[in-house]
Amino acid sequence: MPFIKKSFITEKLLPNVAIEKLINNYVQLKKAGSNYTCCCPFHHEKTPSFSVTPSKQMFYCFGCKEHGNVIDFVMKYKNLGFVEAVEEVAQFAGMEVEYDKSSSHSKDEYDRLKEYYDLMDRCASLFSSYLKSPEGQVGYNYFKKSRGLSDETIQKCRLGFAPANPRYLQDALCKNPGDEKKLIDLGLLVQGQYGVHAMYRNRVMIPIFDKRGRIISFGGRTMGDDKPKYMNTKETAIYRKRQELFGLYESLLVNNNRPQRLVVVEGYMDVISVRQAGCSYAVASLGTATTPEQIQTMFRYTDKIVFCYDGDSAGRNAAWHALQTITPIMQEGKEISFVFLPPEHDPDSLVREKGLDAFVKFLDDAMSYPEFLVLHNSQSFNLQDPNELSVFINNSIKLIAQIPLSAVQMVCIKLLSGPSGISENQLYDMLKDNKETVKTPKSEDKRSLDNTSIEIKSGSKDILKTPMRKLMAFIVQQPIVVSSVYHEFALDTFVALCKRMNISGSEHLEGILQLITENPEMTPANFIEITRGTEYEKTVRYLMDAPLNLVTTTGGEIPFKDRIDYFAVILGEVLMKPLKDRAEALKIQLSQGNSNALEEHGAIQRIIRNNLG
Ligand SMILES: [Zn+2]
Repeated sequence: MPFIKKSFITEKLLPNVAIEKLINNYVQLKKAGSNYTCCCPFHHEKTPSFSVTPSKQMFYCFGCKEHGNVIDFVMKYKNLGFVEAVEEVAQFAGMEVEYDKSSSHSKDEYDRLKEYYDLMDRCASLFSSYLKSPEGQVGYNYFKKSRGLSDETIQKCRLGFAPANPRYLQDALCKNPGDEKKLIDLGLLVQGQYGVHAMYRNRVMIPIFDKRGRIISFGGRTMGDDKPKYMNTKETAIYRKRQELFGLYESLLVNNNRPQRLVVVEGYMDVISVRQAGCSYAVASLGTATTPEQIQTMFRYTDKIVFCYDGDSAGRNAAWHALQTITPIMQEGKEISFVFLPPEHDPDSLVREKGLDAFVKFLDDAMSYPEFLVLHNSQSFNLQDPNELSVFINNSIKLIAQIPLSAVQMVCIKLLSGPSGISENQLYDMLKDNKETVKTPKSEDKRSLDNTSIEIKSGSKDILKTPMRKLMAFIVQQPIVVSSVYHEFALDTFVALCKRMNISGSEHLEGILQLITENPEMTPANFIEITRGTEYEKTVRYLMDAPLNLVTTTGGEIPFKDRIDYFAVILGEVLMKPLKDRAEALKIQLSQGNSNALEEHGAIQRIIRNNLG
């Protein structure tokens, strides 16, 4: 976990960043009473259900239940890790991040990664310089003449050339003893039979950037017909090819993190070529078929994904694979479509011969997901042959059963009815049979407090089904109220009593109250921060959005004094049921002649009477 000082975040950063200002930097907020609101950046909607509460320094979406403080917002909005998000928030606030020097392990790790990124950057510069050398002329000509790239594009994409000499990297970059090892770690040097040599030789070099614009890998392409046409580095500490997308960084940069659509093309050169022509939203996967992780990443930034393939059978197979990958993770409000270019073209050749408009026209006329699933798939079978027809229907139904959205399922069934010649009702019956055996993502919604996917249920009423839950929800949402009456209400004694009576949740209550005594100025946003990565995080996040109804009709918070009264009532509720149970048990003991129970029974009766009065 973080090597950033926690005290920097909770005591300096969070108190100095107004959440409404930070979020307004990314999306347009509107004032609504004491809160701010807008259409949610995390799910598709027409009317605003995203709300920002300055008094709590928190955001919450009533639609998709995303919630959290400024750091959570940046992590989600920009799909960054925790440390990167903190750095971004600090940059916004004009503050210098304070790193924790004592946690040397993570600091070392940070330094090691930083060295890797720096080294990759130096490699890219080296490849660029070789491209300008006499030996690199052949590479330069390849980019300029064979690919029609401008000098500006070559420079912007930091394209380069790897010479033939197997030791060029050692000669240029290995000045210190550990350097060679680092380049091996990064996959740029490999240990061969005759020693360590450069992985890429006599190839043009295309750097691959991560979402933050750091170089994490290279694609090396031959200029002739020798194989393999493309080489990629292995996975390394900074390069996870299942998660990254070529071209995503540039697409996000140009489109302010919200491209209207992302079009997935097959090759790096396609991305670069259409970008040069003016299409700012093309990406490619990195030497693999499109993965679920890449699709989830794209969904974070856009509502429309277009898969664009060559019209040959390899292209169709790739598209079908993409459809199967995306089916179980489809999301409400996201549009998926497919484009097949004429067999003689790829995106690169199309924009160069016919211009960007021709390419965009193909994208605009893309085939929808249901059409591709049913109609296009039907072309793979001879539907006159009863055997093939049944395989076609079976395959289609199996896929449709995996779609987590019922409206999309309905459209697919409607379309399937045509070519299959089976009525919609019969197809629905088949679908039902299939659904019972297929586990859809929806079945994961039913998770409890202790489970991982807490956000799904947060905000719903049954979070608060026990008084203890209600109490803890109040504490995390109103920490200032709690700390203001901590001694007056003898909360330490209260906790001890709860523990003695074995009330479920007492241990967590004790832990959460402990945090309040340590941080009397706690805000809900800080609660999230202090518990991040601890055993309390899940509980705190889960309860943060529980509906306690502490708002007035105009949307503001009820007065401080009323919140104290509310707190007192919940405290009573927590003890009342267990006390009544105890009184009942003591009564039975008394009736059996156990006079020792008399005193305790009397005391409990008095407490119950006083509280009911
Ligand atoms: Zn939302």
